[in-house]
Amino acid sequence: MTLSLRERIQGVPAALQDQAELNAVITDTSAQALGGLDAAPEGPLAGLLLGIKDNLNFAGTATSCASRTLEGYISTYTATAVRRLLDAGGQIVVKTNMDEFAMGSSTEYSCFGPTRNPHDPELVPGGSSGGSAVAVATELVDAALGSDTGGSVRQPAAFCGIFGLKPTYGRVSRFGLVAFASSFDQIGVFARNTAMASTVYQTIAGHDAADSTSSTEPVKPFDYDEHLARSLKVGLFPDAELAGTDPQIMDRYNALIKFLKGKGLPVAQIEMPHTRHGIAAYYVLTTAEASSNLARFDGIRYGRRLQEKPDLESLYRGTRSDGFGPEVQRRIMLGTYVLSAGYMDKYYIQAQRVRRSIQEDYKAAFSEVDILLTPTTPTFPFLIGSQTDDPMSMYLSDIFTVPMSLAGVPSMSIPVGNGNNNLPIGLQLTANYFGEDAIFQLSQLIENQFSA
Ligand code: GLN
Repeated sequence: MTLSLRERIQGVPAALQDQAELNAVITDTSAQALGGLDAAPEGPLAGLLLGIKDNLNFAGTATSCASRTLEGYISTYTATAVRRLLDAGGQIVVKTNMDEFAMGSSTEYSCFGPTRNPHDPELVPGGSSGGSAVAVATELVDAALGSDTGGSVRQPAAFCGIFGLKPTYGRVSRFGLVAFASSFDQIGVFARNTAMASTVYQTIAGHDAADSTSSTEPVKPFDYDEHLARSLKVGLFPDAELAGTDPQIMDRYNALIKFLKGKGLPVAQIEMPHTRHGIAAYYVLTTAEASSNLARFDGIRYGRRLQEKPDLESLYRGTRSDGFGPEVQRRIMLGTYVLSAGYMDKYYIQAQRVRRSIQEDYKAAFSEVDILLTPTTPTFPFLIGSQTDDPMSMYLSDIFTVPMSLAGVPSMSIPVGNGNNNLPIGLQLTANYFGEDAIFQLSQLIENQFSA
């Protein structure tokens, strides 16, 4: 029996109850979607149920960023990417759980409690867009938006066994996305196959006058062409860069390389001399940007405010200490420190130099190859609670996703089967700036022919 669109939307509250344990959703917006369902929707996303991460503004809905700071805040406007989903006929039925202000790799740092991995509820789903990844993996929705600053779409996609694309920096308007680190943030897409990922991507990509960093470069269409896919040159990171990766993930990685060679794709080793400094540079630059971006949450303009404070200074202090969780506070302090007089040159300026060197590494690599192949994560999903007391080990979860974010190049995690533990493995395809179409070509070839 096929359900009508109306029936599918009506089924969302019950579906949410069924998977309540996973805690993937913060707000059920299905009633709002139903209310707007007069005529049959038209457009490339007509008939699709969609989720959006709770740091995307959608007029009339609560936007919390999973932070107590934004308790009670209702969006007064709609993000451009969200508007484009609606204009294309999509139905937004849920706003999804996340790490507070998108800071984290596990969706445990949420004031609404952790999201759980559908493959094993004892494990994290990855983060920070864990709720969107879970909503897609469990088929609650057909596709979802997340945001990726250093891996927050790709890493949870890998941990949940789905596709997760971070577009080129500037490819998708950030208007209406609550800022974490503005020179890194990109809205990305979760889907269960390449075609869906590319359709949603095509819908949200493209210039927007409301975001001056959004690119005017035309969006390239994607039509799968096996011949073209097989002509792409694939580059591999030096083995030393992958040391420490789980052997089962390396097995799938090596099997994929073998498959691609068998299909006749040229495969070459490339040098990435600076990526090993990626994590250090990322956590200096993004915390610096975050410390500035989050200054606006002072209890005056948005959300929660601690009452009965004698003066403005203690009102700010009280509100921010009470409203922000520990990870966000850690990042604000770190970011303030690296920007402070006497340390700015040593940390912030130095990290900028590393960022430039990493960009040069990618430029050099893409003069030789079309796609870089890496694992998405060094490990399988970890146990809930196992890394929250050890921020450094949590940060290392992003070792393979952060370099692309520093460079601003597009990158997608694709599922390539499971380990012996039945947990999903993701590998990452990275292309040159605005090379999303090349990523989709190769992804489709792998999806069609690389057996899990
Ligand atoms: N896990 C990374 C961090 O904590 C990436 C987060 C993101 O991409 N939003 O910063």
